[in-house]
Amino acid sequence: MASYLKTTPDAQGYFGTYGGAMLPPPLVPHFKDITDAYLRISKSADYINELRLIRKHFQGRPTPVSYLKNLSDACGGARLYAKREDLNHTGAHKLNHCMAEGLLARHMGKTKLMAETGAGQHGVALATAAAYFGMECEIHMGEDDIAKEAPNVTRMKLLGAEVVPVSFGGRSLKEAVDSCFESYLKQADTALFAIGSVVGPHPFPMMVRDFQHVVGVEAREQFLEMTGELPDMVAACVGGGSNAMGIFSGFIDDEGVALFGVEPLGSSSNLGDHAATMTYGEDGELHGFRSILLKDPQGAPAEVHTIASGLHYPGVGPEHAHLHRTGRATYVGATDTECLRAFYDLSRREGIIPALESAHAVAFAMREAPANPGKSILINLSGRGDKDIDYVTQNHGFGENLR
Ligand SMILES: *Cc1c(COP(=O)(O)O)cnc(C)c1O
Repeated sequence: MASYLKTTPDAQGYFGTYGGAMLPPPLVPHFKDITDAYLRISKSADYINELRLIRKHFQGRPTPVSYLKNLSDACGGARLYAKREDLNHTGAHKLNHCMAEGLLARHMGKTKLMAETGAGQHGVALATAAAYFGMECEIHMGEDDIAKEAPNVTRMKLLGAEVVPVSFGGRSLKEAVDSCFESYLKQADTALFAIGSVVGPHPFPMMVRDFQHVVGVEAREQFLEMTGELPDMVAACVGGGSNAMGIFSGFIDDEGVALFGVEPLGSSSNLGDHAATMTYGEDGELHGFRSILLKDPQGAPAEVHTIASGLHYPGVGPEHAHLHRTGRATYVGATDTECLRAFYDLSRREGIIPALESAHAVAFAMREAPANPGKSILINLSGRGDKDIDYVTQNHGFGENLR
């Protein structure tokens, strides 16, 4: 049987009925260029070797898999393991696709990387890649986000990026996307728009998945070596879905491995209080692709809430919508409170401070563990929590109320 990854998506970028590329006409040739270049370059020995060396000597890959013995003992039941993307350079999985996008841009003869950013994590990772490749970098960011995320703005500037403040509309992520597309149209010959997750028009959902595939390939090999078997369950948080697709893709042909995407249930099930797209959303179109989204009563992308800014998105990558429909992956949720409890528990019991995003996957594993004695759960720990410690401790202390 042909492996899933070789046959999905189809040539038009469809995962079943999800995905595609609904683009304004002037962008169509540019996205076709990117697709053609990716399909050609990603098979070249030069590109593959360069990327392998960058991952080893600059990013610090492979990242390890750790057995979380203390947390497993405390939960009782399943054995919990973590794939340590928090140890990747810059502290999260996002650099995996940013470095690959930068290398693609260089092979295409581009001199600039550009993107939008919400909380600034993607902007920092892309600015890092641009510095490495000696390219210009232009990051669009809403003025409200700039005010909230000052340390990441400072990082981007230190790394040499130009941060373009976006002052119209809600002055947040959605406007930053619009602003960045507008600017990209004027310089698409020399710049690459580097999307930050497995979202956007084809080829980005496929390409970013392929760039994150290294996480799943490493994790599968490491887990086998450590335990002699495959994990029973694999869990990852889902914002756009790139870290989840990275680890899922390593196990997708292993039918005995159950895949779980963990969405933010936020503070309540009311629209506006969560960002649980699969749990509460419906089919629709957003930012140039078909997927599942949360809509407001007028049918526009809804306002969302979650304690983890990296999961703050009313849509989800089309491949997740497809895996949800086919049943190959199961989508579940964790609330803000469960996430905080996992944040404190993993810090205290294992010496690992997780990103609030990743803490959603930890929360799911902690909840499932008691019902699954003898089984193993591999969590993708997508990033470290240094960026979150001020917010968490100023608002929730040291977790006294959650123990
Ligand atoms: C951005 C981010 C996420 C969410 O993005 P995905 O594309 O869903 O992976 C998750 N974890 C961390 C640490 C992030 O920075």
